[in-house]
Amino acid sequence: MTAKHLTGYRCSVCEAEFQPGPLTYTCPHDGGNLDVLLDYDRIRQTTTPDTLHAQTERSLWRYLPLLPVADPGQTGTPLRRAGFTPLYRPPALAESLGLRHLWVKDESSNPTASFKDRASALVIARAREIAAGVVVTASTGNAGAALAGMAAAVGHKAVIFAPRSAPPAKIAQLLVYGAQVILVDGNYDAAFDLSVAAAREFGWYCRNTGYNPFTAEGKKTAAFEIWEFFRYGTLDKGYSIANVGGAPPISNPESPLAIFVSVGDGNIISGLHKGFKDLLALGWLEELPRIFGVQAEGSAAIANAFAAGSERIRPVSASTLADSISVDMPRDGLRALRAAAQTGGAYLTVSDAQILEAVAQLGRAGIFAEPAGAAAYAGLVKAVGEGLIGPGDAVVVLNTGSGLKDVAAAMRAVPDAPVIEPELGAVKRVLDFDV
Ligand SMILES: *Cc1c(COP(=O)(O)O)cnc(C)c1O
Ligand SMILES: [Zn+2]
Repeated sequence: MTAKHLTGYRCSVCEAEFQPGPLTYTCPHDGGNLDVLLDYDRIRQTTTPDTLHAQTERSLWRYLPLLPVADPGQTGTPLRRAGFTPLYRPPALAESLGLRHLWVKDESSNPTASFKDRASALVIARAREIAAGVVVTASTGNAGAALAGMAAAVGHKAVIFAPRSAPPAKIAQLLVYGAQVILVDGNYDAAFDLSVAAAREFGWYCRNTGYNPFTAEGKKTAAFEIWEFFRYGTLDKGYSIANVGGAPPISNPESPLAIFVSVGDGNIISGLHKGFKDLLALGWLEELPRIFGVQAEGSAAIANAFAAGSERIRPVSASTLADSISVDMPRDGLRALRAAAQTGGAYLTVSDAQILEAVAQLGRAGIFAEPAGAAAYAGLVKAVGEGLIGPGDAVVVLNTGSGLKDVAAAMRAVPDAPVIEPELGAVKRVLDFDV
């Protein structure tokens, strides 16, 4: 069975359209990323928001009618568990920021503990649909872990190229999932180029972020979840995100929902944008949420272009402790730029110190984020400080990855624990509160 609704691809640079061939990556004319085209009329004939919402599937596969792949089956495997992550409402964080309507969407609850599972689940489904053999990706760690995990779940062979400097927990994950792991003596960009060359040489199916159009299609499912939550999470049905009435969850937001997400290659933010655009095209959403991209100061190629008001993205020499968003030349930069520019959002940059502070803050709310995940929250702190976000705004912050992915960075975010002799007097001396 093949996907019913995939009608082709459109280049994000020259707008040329392409038929849905089995191995289409980027535009052959200019290397632009391809948007997946769907048959919205046909989707509307069989699906409504209410039929979607009535389903019992608790994973991203509940949105199958809006995805460009057929049902992959595999019930009872981790492939079937990707997505459908919680939206927490952390009161202490909201209070510390002076916000009345704050949610954190925690992607660390995905099977391999990052947002990347959404893309890898779709790519594995696509690989099986087109009977591709080996799948390959370059990765700073999370995309590889997600591909390795999803491939292992269904017995598919995966090859992962990662920089040798990737955090050990991520490399351990790759190895435990049984992928062929190749550590490259170079950065992510070097691993990326090598993986594309290897895919060409050996005929492998390449998952690379942005390069493979199905990655954004997987990532857009987070937008669907946010939309569904706000559409049905309220007592008043039938309102769009922009004007949900009554309480809970949002009472009288002053402007459209604001979404904060960290950005490296720019594929998560592009995927979110695509998801909301799909919903708009289907007539199921009235107004796009504002999308705010957050980059590390030391890896800010897209934020630099945004600040310059230009669509021309120039590579940087990336340096940040948030390894998952450390990228010299973003592979989905143009669409990532437009995701903020076309929704009334913005780009913000944050320092590594601000990212570590955000790791600590989220931790005290019960959410353990890796640095790249916490960067989005650091961006919100900055946006509130600059008055970009006001007290009545409704805000969703994405935590894109688990703190367990990079324990060394987590230890830098918090003070060391005291070591004491095993006696009560010593306990009293080190307590950080009064007894
Ligand atoms: C990949 C990743 C990002 C950034 O996603 P891009 O698509 O590269 O912009 C952010 N946070 C985490 C934890 C990631 O793994
Ligand atoms: Zn093109």
